[in-house]
Amino acid sequence: MNHPIPYGRQHIADEDIAAVADVLRGPFLTQGPHIGAFETAFASYIGSQYAVAIANGTAALHLCCMALGVTTETRVITTPITFSASANCVRYCGGEIYFADIDPKTALLDINAVRAVLEQHPKGYFSGIIPVDFAGYPVDMAAFRDLADDYGLWLLEDACHAPGGSFMDQHGVIHRCGDGSLADLAIFSFHPVKHIAAGEGGMITTNDEALYKHLLRLRTHGITNKPAEWTEPYVGEPERGGWYMELQELGYNYRLTDMQAALGTSQLQRVDAMFARRQEIAKRYDEAFSNTNVSIIIPPISVSHAYHLYVIQADDRKGLYDFLRTKNIIAQVHYIPVHLMPYYRQFGWKPGDFPNAERYYARCLSLPMFPTLTTDEQDYVIASVKEFVGA
Ligand SMILES: *Cc1c(COP(=O)(O)O)cnc(C)c1O
Repeated sequence: MNHPIPYGRQHIADEDIAAVADVLRGPFLTQGPHIGAFETAFASYIGSQYAVAIANGTAALHLCCMALGVTTETRVITTPITFSASANCVRYCGGEIYFADIDPKTALLDINAVRAVLEQHPKGYFSGIIPVDFAGYPVDMAAFRDLADDYGLWLLEDACHAPGGSFMDQHGVIHRCGDGSLADLAIFSFHPVKHIAAGEGGMITTNDEALYKHLLRLRTHGITNKPAEWTEPYVGEPERGGWYMELQELGYNYRLTDMQAALGTSQLQRVDAMFARRQEIAKRYDEAFSNTNVSIIIPPISVSHAYHLYVIQADDRKGLYDFLRTKNIIAQVHYIPVHLMPYYRQFGWKPGDFPNAERYYARCLSLPMFPTLTTDEQDYVIASVKEFVGA
């Protein structure tokens, strides 16, 4: 192909552009009416009671850790196969990150490995778990909820890869990623490479009203102007008028703009079609690679995979990556294990700590996966991979 095929790409339609232009002509650029509209539409899509729009997914993770009370005394477990923000959020609050290995059958955080880490420490040592719906494969959050309840832990779901993904629990109940039924909080990202593009952007979903209200305040500096939340007048304060507001705690400016919310809301109108297209592309890849020497992960029928990424595993991954580059196919590697990052090695994590994650990293490659990938382009990608591996 004479044009590059990236591993992911946003789709901006004329109606998206019109929606943003409309906001620019109106009176509100930051936090206007589109924020609430986006939150309502997103909560209804995901199936949660509440949604809080945030500047980006990383800021959403940070605020979740603050709302969950992470401090320098807090220890949290996450997966090494994720974007480092899933771990960094705990560090922003001074807490300590522990990792547990992945299950090679799903590439997700292995609940048995997490249980083993919990059992190695006294009860009360850990405060929470951050499972990640890596690549769009929904974590069995029902099993994690049971484990978390046994140990008195909170669950923060990093669902950046999985808006629209779902799984069926053992009672036949379907849970959408981040629907508030199992994890205490869930976060999403609207970075252009994710399912819904807003330039930058994030969302927190929850069914917990207290956490929801706290997050609204943390998003805007920790300031409130709601009379019900006012403290006693301080000595010497002459009067309270319409100007009055209070800084009640140290928050941040993590607001989303109205332009971004309008773009996100407009994209949300097409989300079902885009989701269906991702699954169609995945099915064609699954069929193409099923009898070859590249490995793929096919979820059971109880799982509806959101396919942010389509990952294959190959022995000569570097060779394959370089070969695809010569074919103008820009594959990518997700992820270099977080515990091997120089920043985390200072805490004592080292190669060999999580063999499944390290083996996965050595072999994984994300192929082009985005709704506007054409069938011709996908055929070309499949043929190129097969040419290299000799299938
Ligand atoms: C993209 C991503 C984030 C961060 O989201 P931003 O909006 O880019 O800050 C966090 N976790 C995972 C798993 C992601 O893929």
